[in-house]
Amino acid sequence: MIDDLSTGSLDNIRHLMGRKGFHYAIETITNETVMDRLVSECDVIFHLAAAVGVELIIKRPVHVIENNIIGTEYVLRIANRYRKKVLVASTSEIYGKNNRVPFKEDDDRVLGATTKSRWSYSCSKAIDEFLALAYWHEKKLPVVNFRLFNTIGPRQTGRYGMVVPRFVRQALTGAPLTVYGDGMQSRCFSAVRDVVEAIIALSENAGAVGDVFNIGSSQEISILELARRVVALTGSSSEIEFIPYNEAYEKGFEDMRRRVPDTTKIRELVGWTPHTPLEDILREIIEEIDKEVKCTLPACAL
Ligand code: UDP
Repeated sequence: MIDDLSTGSLDNIRHLMGRKGFHYAIETITNETVMDRLVSECDVIFHLAAAVGVELIIKRPVHVIENNIIGTEYVLRIANRYRKKVLVASTSEIYGKNNRVPFKEDDDRVLGATTKSRWSYSCSKAIDEFLALAYWHEKKLPVVNFRLFNTIGPRQTGRYGMVVPRFVRQALTGAPLTVYGDGMQSRCFSAVRDVVEAIIALSENAGAVGDVFNIGSSQEISILELARRVVALTGSSSEIEFIPYNEAYEKGFEDMRRRVPDTTKIRELVGWTPHTPLEDILREIIEEIDKEVKCTLPACAL
């Protein structure tokens, strides 16, 4: 594993340290010497290194665009040197503000103006997908692109905008739950462990090479309903506060109103469907953040 910890944390892998076969390097994927060695030693590359999170995209667009495009260029070039299969993580942002859900892999992309920085993330990941497919078509490097929809689970940070850890932390600390816009925008959340199963299944199937797959849940929920559910599950007395997009992000911010994947393609190829219900994932996240919140209370230090 290689990570520069720009959005991650060593705490996320502490439970894996010392396990046989688990090695990690705290480095950037643009360190060619380190990457060359790691790629030469591995069987398959899961390329998930990217700058993500709407808040980060708005605050640090140069970092996001450069990191996503240049990083993937390094990964593919070095993978090609050793002829190693690469699975490239992409995103449901690829579909942009297309309102015709569910999204199928070959649907058109509908994006806003380049003056709206949100869409730079979608474009950076689209270039990653194009580049990966180009390596397949031109150099026969085995690649698979997969588009992640909202993926959640314990240890996810809310620092870069991700709604679930933010709502859970707000509910557990008695702070208002910050619902952006009218809260009627919807998302489909899936458990990270289900998503990992999907990615591994794709890596083991020769039929996936040179293609792109949606990975996500079809259980759609509005953000307002999500906030209500988090309040109910935590037994919190927090209120729900509506914040205009202009204040939450930037002037003229455009959100995706609905985001629902069509997962027929991955189901037909590898038999994958998500199986963890939203309620179970939320409970797990609540339990983990609750421990953390309690640990920041003065009594925990005693
Ligand atoms: N959101 C919200 N309150 C927050 C953070 C996010 O209402 O504190 C909304 C956000 O505007 C979006 C949805 O929740 O409509 C999902 O946001 P997230 O950043 O988790 O993922 P996205 O689907 O935007 O990539």
